[in-house]
Amino acid sequence: MRMHKKKNTDKRILVCADYLNWEDMLKNDKIVYLEIGCGKGDFICGMAQRFPDINFIAVEKISDVIVIAMEKVKSLNLSNVRFIITDAKKLEDYFVGFKISQLYLNFSDPWHKRYQQNNRLTAPGFLEIYKKILKPDAKIIMKTDKKEFFDYSVRSFTANGFRLENITHDLYNSNFFNPDENIQTEYEKTFVSQNIPICYLVAYN
Ligand code: SAH
Repeated sequence: MRMHKKKNTDKRILVCADYLNWEDMLKNDKIVYLEIGCGKGDFICGMAQRFPDINFIAVEKISDVIVIAMEKVKSLNLSNVRFIITDAKKLEDYFVGFKISQLYLNFSDPWHKRYQQNNRLTAPGFLEIYKKILKPDAKIIMKTDKKEFFDYSVRSFTANGFRLENITHDLYNSNFFNPDENIQTEYEKTFVSQNIPICYLVAYN
């Protein structure tokens, strides 16, 4: 059963294989925004439609999930999105010779247990990787519903030399929230419909 599913995923990815060729997209010299943990791709599609002059790269480690994002991008015929199927801890191997202008972390896994905290996408090991792949003035924009993970992230960014702005535990009721500009992710749509507040911050490298 599992094998069958996996085989089907591989086939579906092959149909969208053009969208794995990010080197090809980068030939146009436009700035690059990155999303780590893109899930089923609603955010990256919304961003790419709104900002056609920016190159977007979406990273996701689970093939069964990223394939859905790839199929959305293909059906929308978006030329400014590419995908990398990998664990974010390997990102340095990919980003040689170009740097990222903005990084989005949307509803990353919180890894509640203390012994798992190095897996959090805002753990010091990941922040070191981001420093290497981001431009000097780049922003990291984070959204999550998990307050404990968010507060950990605030401490981690600060301890690792990032400057923070627009920190809030309730984005939708904060004075810098603009509903016309905010692009919702799949998780965000669910949480907002349940009136769960969204934490948000911007970190500068
Ligand atoms: N951003 C989407 C999905 C959130 S769930 C949304 O907001 O709706 C978090 C996603 O991040 C999952 O799909 C998970 O597979 C992915 N992810 C978690 N850790 C990752 C890592 N180290 N590298 C790549 N993807 C990761």
